Amino acid sequence: MRPAALIRRMPGYAQVFRARHGSRPRFECPVCGYRGPFMDVTGFAGVRRHAECPQCGALERHRLQSLVLQRILAERDTAGLKALHFAPEKFLRRRLAARFGRYETADIEMRGVDHIADIRRLPFADASYDFVFASHVLEHVAEDRQAVAEIRRVLRAGGIAVLPVPVVCERTIEYAAPNPHEAGHVRAPGRDYFDRYRERFARVEVWSSEQFPEKYQLYAWEDRSVWPTAECPQRPPMAGERHADFVPVCYA
Ligand SMILES: [Zn+2]
Repeated sequence: MRPAALIRRMPGYAQVFRARHGSRPRFECPVCGYRGPFMDVTGFAGVRRHAECPQCGALERHRLQSLVLQRILAERDTAGLKALHFAPEKFLRRRLAARFGRYETADIEMRGVDHIADIRRLPFADASYDFVFASHVLEHVAEDRQAVAEIRRVLRAGGIAVLPVPVVCERTIEYAAPNPHEAGHVRAPGRDYFDRYRERFARVEVWSSEQFPEKYQLYAWEDRSVWPTAECPQRPPMAGERHADFVPVCYA
C-alpha cells in the first residue's frame, strides 16, 4: 500500500483532503474492520479517491449503508422478521442474513438468488415482508414509481424499505433512454429524488455521510465539474470535490 500515491494532484483537492485527513490518510471500514488507506477507483466522472476498502472491496456507499443499518436495526428485535434483499451485494448479504429470522434474495437476472423477479411486478403477496433493501436499483428502472408502489405493497404495516440511489445533482433529470455510459441509468437522481418515496410511504428519513465520523470515509471525492460530457450529455456539473452520499429509510 502506498498512501502517498493515493493523493492525486488536482487543484484544490489535495489541500482540502489534507486539511481533513492529514498527509497519510488512514480510515476504518465498518463492513470488515480493516484500518488503513483506502484505494482509488475509476468511476463515471474519472478517478474517485479513497473509495474502496482494500480488504473487503466495500465502497463509500456500502460503508454508509452498513452504518445506517446498524443504527436503524439496533433497537429492533429482527429475529422474527422477514427480509427481502433485491440485487444483493456481497457486503451486506451476510449481515442481513444473520440479522433477520428469514432472509431472501431477488434480482431480475442475477444467478444464485432465491427469486428471479421484476421489481415493477413483484411475484409476492401483499404484506409478505418486514424489510426490503434495494440499493442502486431504481436508477435503472424507468417505471420507478411503479417499483416503489410494489415495494410498499409487499411490506407489512410498520415495515421498512431502504432504497438508496446515487444522488449526482440537485434536481432529478430523466433521460430519454438508458445511458450505456452510466451502466444503463435512466436518470440522474437529484436531492429531490426521495420525494417519490414520500408519495407511498408514511415517513422517509434520509441519512447522510455527514452524520458519521470521518474515519469511515463516506464521501465521493471526485470532480463532478466534468459534466456534461459527450457520453453523458444530460448530467449537470456539480461544484466541489467532496460529495455526500445518502441512505433513504422508508417507513410503511
Ligand atoms: Zn472492508
